[in-house]
Amino acid sequence: MSDFDFSSRRLHSNVKIDGEYDIIVCGAGPAGSVVAGRLAENSTLRVLLIEAGGTDDVPEVMDPAQWPLNLGSERDWGFLAEPNSSLNGRSIPLSMGKCLGGGSSINVMVWARGHKNDWEDFAAEAGDSAWGYESVLDIYRRIESWQGLGDANRRGTGGPVHVQPASDPPPVARAMLDAARGLGIPVFDSPNGEMMEGRGGAALTDLIIRNGRRSSIFRCYVAPRLGQRNLTVLTHALVSRLLFDGSTVIGVEVIERGQLRRYMAGLEVVLSLGAINTPKLLMQSGIGPEDELRQHDIRIVQNLPGVGQNHQDHVSFGCIFEFSERQPVCDGGSQATLYWKSDDNLRLPDLLHCQVQFPVPSLETASAGVPAHGWTMFAGLAHPKSRGALKLSGVNAHDPIRIEANTLSHPDDLRDALKSIEMCRDLGNSRAFSGLVTREALPGKLGIDEMKEFARNAAVTYWHQSCTAKMGRDPMSVVDGRLKVHGIEKLRIADASIMPHVTSGNTMAPCVVIGERAADMIKVAHDV
Ligand SMILES: Cc1cc2nc3c(=O)[nH]c(=O)nc-3n(C[C@H](O)[C@H](O)[C@H](O)COP(=O)(O)OP(=O)(O)OC[C@H]3O[C@@H](n4cnc5c(N)ncnc54)[C@H](O)[C@@H]3O)c2cc1C
Repeated sequence: MSDFDFSSRRLHSNVKIDGEYDIIVCGAGPAGSVVAGRLAENSTLRVLLIEAGGTDDVPEVMDPAQWPLNLGSERDWGFLAEPNSSLNGRSIPLSMGKCLGGGSSINVMVWARGHKNDWEDFAAEAGDSAWGYESVLDIYRRIESWQGLGDANRRGTGGPVHVQPASDPPPVARAMLDAARGLGIPVFDSPNGEMMEGRGGAALTDLIIRNGRRSSIFRCYVAPRLGQRNLTVLTHALVSRLLFDGSTVIGVEVIERGQLRRYMAGLEVVLSLGAINTPKLLMQSGIGPEDELRQHDIRIVQNLPGVGQNHQDHVSFGCIFEFSERQPVCDGGSQATLYWKSDDNLRLPDLLHCQVQFPVPSLETASAGVPAHGWTMFAGLAHPKSRGALKLSGVNAHDPIRIEANTLSHPDDLRDALKSIEMCRDLGNSRAFSGLVTREALPGKLGIDEMKEFARNAAVTYWHQSCTAKMGRDPMSVVDGRLKVHGIEKLRIADASIMPHVTSGNTMAPCVVIGERAADMIKVAHDV
């Protein structure tokens, strides 16, 4: 039976309505903040933004250096992947932001816009050139308030997101660029321009830090509008179910401080709950793979086999080098990056390295001994071939989701991991670091089998979970090029889950583009 009584145009009489809005945006992460902020520009639109977490006004969020303290805190969903035989049975932690700003409030603040061909691929999947690179460059120009060297074709200076180059990079960051040069890899002024149109290169990072404080996407788009009468932001409010009239979404059910509430949306509901919770909510509401829903006796509203499939993430392996003496940590400690196509014929960079100015072993590699003072070169894969899947453990909002991340399950990923680790070792052991580094602590020179073992034990995520409700036109796609859920009315998805494949770098900036695109499409669809 529908939740809606069409004759009275109300929910059934025993169901209380707690509020009516034009647009309900679920999740105040990067994409959700953009959608809510942009739509609230129109004072005639009543916008509700619902967030499960709480405030971002704490030192661990606002002080860039404190970001690691958010891991495992109340601002982290604290997801854990299922035990994985490709990782020696390890369950790797998959943190995700849970507060105003979502990931952009707990992440490393790196601004990385994706490779030109990521966007061309999105356009091809969507069948819509508006997702292509030229169009996305326009969007980035209006998003950014870029503080670095001018690049008028690619960078904007009047947008809401303050992006600045790494400040005061210490010698270890500069040395990494010199080391890259030594390997024949070009060095660029910024990783967000020409570098991401070709084979790649190395650069100091761009960061969302302003006057020494994190400038999250919530702070950029929503915080300035908090006094507006047409924008309501709920915190500590868990969206638990979509409400339907047939296959039309009419509102959401929310658990707020133990109470069940219902909010109705006149125009649309937008899901921006991130790549784990968006598919979870879809499935628990009856939209997803038929078999999975039947197993849990969930009434099927729409059979969409792709919901929760195609889980992608960037895997990386921490190579650690010991400093000759303690070195400063600047900004969030990640100020140098490298993207590279190991073969020039590749369409996209396959290697994605991030330097961190302190030692970061995995739980398992820590036992090999970690230097008191050192730095990490994360040897990452920009486009791993392993694919994961999400499974329900129950029908209630508090039932945990099972994440089969399947990291390193594709044999090519282990092969490429070794290639990436060897490149990090070449960089870290190069002359560029002489005087700074006394030795390579991890992994050291190993035989091929030992190195595979190291990779399985060292594998961690860059926290770029994505692609679990992908955009496209094939049977496994979940949304179309306008981000509308196939077969359902008045429901869009705007977050990392819609990516057809993970972008070549960190995923926050692409989520801002996704939010901008969603807001534009909603404005056009409803002429508002
Ligand atoms: C530790 C860490 C470091 C990272 N470092 C970087 C980096 O330096 N640069 C970069 O580009 N990317 C980084 N990322 C990744 C980046 O932050 C994410 O890709 C990005 O935040 C994803 O945005 P999103 O819009 O998909 O949603 P999310 O950021 O996942 O936000 C979703 C929001 O929805 C809320 N929500 C979820 N379920 C519910 C529910 N049922 N009801 C109500 N609200 C709900 C969440 O609490 C959250 O606020 C990092 C991520 C982490 C966790």
